[in-house]
Parts: sequence; C-alpha cells; structure tokens
Amino acid sequence: MRRSQQWDLGVPGLRSRQRSMLGSGLTDGILAEADGSIDGVLAAAGGSIDGDWRSGYICVSEEDYPSLRILPSALAETQSDLPFVAIVRSREELYRWLSNPLPRLQWIQVEGMLGDSDAWTEVAHSDSDVSLDLILSDPSSEFSDLYKLVDACAVHDFRVTMLAQPGLLKAVRLAAALACPVRILPGQPTAEVLAELKEVLDFYLHAPTVEAPIEFFHSLLAITYGGDAGSLWMILEEDPAAFLQYDINGQTRLPRSNSFESVEISPRKFVEHHLKSLVEQGAECATCPWQQPCRGYFKWPDPTYSCKGVKELFSVVQAAADEIGRDLASYALSRSPSDRSDEQ
Ligand code: SF4
Repeated sequence: MRRSQQWDLGVPGLRSRQRSMLGSGLTDGILAEADGSIDGVLAAAGGSIDGDWRSGYICVSEEDYPSLRILPSALAETQSDLPFVAIVRSREELYRWLSNPLPRLQWIQVEGMLGDSDAWTEVAHSDSDVSLDLILSDPSSEFSDLYKLVDACAVHDFRVTMLAQPGLLKAVRLAAALACPVRILPGQPTAEVLAELKEVLDFYLHAPTVEAPIEFFHSLLAITYGGDAGSLWMILEEDPAAFLQYDINGQTRLPRSNSFESVEISPRKFVEHHLKSLVEQGAECATCPWQQPCRGYFKWPDPTYSCKGVKELFSVVQAAADEIGRDLASYALSRSPSDRSDEQ
C-alpha cells in the first residue's frame, strides 16, 4: 500500500472547486453547485410508485434548477445563467466550444470522436483552457485510440470516462499512462466485468505509474476510510440532484435510462426515493452493509439485478481502506517526535 501516504484520503464532501477540474470526484470537489443547497424543484422521475417499477425521464418544471446541466452542444448555446457541460459529437462542435466558450461552460464532454486524429492534432494546438471529458462507450475497441491524445494531453486537462465493459483494464492502463484522471461508470456489471473491475482496483492501488484518481475507486476508498456520507451516485456524477442530463429536445432524463415514463418527484430526492422504494419492496438493499455509500446504485435501472458480485467488490475496497488505515497509523508511529513538532 505504498501510495497510502501520499493519498489524500480525508473525509470527502461536496466542496466547492477552485476551477473546472475534472476527474477528482468527491475528494477534490467537482460539485460547486451541489453543495447541499438544491431545493424545491418539481420534476418527474423514474422509480417505484405503488410497487410498480418504472424508469425514465425527469421532466423538470419551469423553475430554475441549480444543478450542473449536461446538454448537447446545440442546446448548450442557450445557456447563459447557469453552469453547464456541453456535449460534442463532431469536430465542428468541439472547436466551437474550445475557441469561444460561453462564460458558464464548466467542461466539454466529448463523445464518439476519439478516433479522429485530425481533431486531436488541432486540439493540441489550441490555447483554450477548457477541460475535456472524453467518453469511451466501448473500451475494448477504443482503448488504442487513446494514443492519439498524447500531444493534446500535454496542453489540456483531460479526463477519460468509460463504461464498464470488457476491455476496461487496457483502457484504464493507457489513460493512466497519459496521467489522465479516469471515471469508470460501472452500471450493472456482468460477472466478467466485475472480475476486470477487481483488476482495475488492484492496478490503481499498486501500480507505480498511476498519478491521477481512478473513480469510483478513489472516492469510494475515501468514503470507506473516513466514514463520510457520500454516495456512488455523486462520485459518478449520476445523481440528478447535482448533475442533470438533457437530450437534444431539452428533456431531462435519468442516467442509464432511455424510457419516457414520467413520475412526479424532485431530482434532489431521486436517489433517496429510489433507495426507499427498494427497501420497501424487500430488495437486498434493506440489509446491505454497503447501503450508505451505494444508495441502491447497482439496482438501477433494473431493480432485480443481483448484487452478489458487487458486494464482493465492496469488500475488496473495504479491505484496501483498512490496509491504508493501518499503513497510515504505523507511518505516524514511526515518525520521531521532532518530525511531528516540525509540522505543527
Ligand atoms: S450493493 Fe446492491 S444491495 Fe447493496 S445497497 Fe447497493 S444496490 Fe443495494
């Protein structure tokens, strides 16, 4: 556990960020606008109503919604007052936001254009200071294209976000070699992917080449170590209370869901409502030791997903956090009194 002494595993929280910094999860405070001050927004969301499971859309009311908006590029053009993330899917859209960003742009989410070498050459020559979040939907086929980012990574802040799919580990290794923060969206992982996630965790804990956080492990370790009340929904930027996703029609939608059921509920309360419904229906969340950091994350959108493998993964994270704790304690004991007084 050689990295434990240099890790900041202080209790995480929703702190204000200093700048639009990507890839640091809770511990570095991505959630400037989500600092527990989101109130009174009516919406429609998926979930369980009267025992009938639905999944689908949040339909936000006309009230201003103070969470971070994640919008397709064309829709982002209309944003003037509230912080937002622009989703780009073409070279033209990418250049537009790099060259002339609107004031409330927080970062650019780049989808489906990792293979566009010319685009990344252009980005490497851009003097924009806007951060980029690169989405990999199929790590096994896309990972080798990460090499195309070498020059661009030298001059821009990148985060690599990837869906947990087979081939994940190779993509994580390459992103780490580029010193990029990584965000892994686990969704409802298969047994094969769970095995790979354990390898990623081991890589994160022990590979000397890892310099930047690999989420969700980084913040989950911090939560497990510090006992704070953060959740996977927030770590992964999938809690509608803080991160609200829009489609091209301006409709808000829940993460990992494409259906159109509409049920009145506040986005701020979606996660709480989801977990409460699971518990009321006797789902395994009711007695799950990982309920606090998970909040039913792995039971969405399919509430019948079996968490056996996920719970094993949580146990591995817990064991790693315990080891870090022991390591830090023995490190503190090993230091001389003069070392300690020098720091005071
Ligand atoms: S790990 Fe599974 S059972 Fe436990 S709280 Fe999360 S979704 Fe529920």
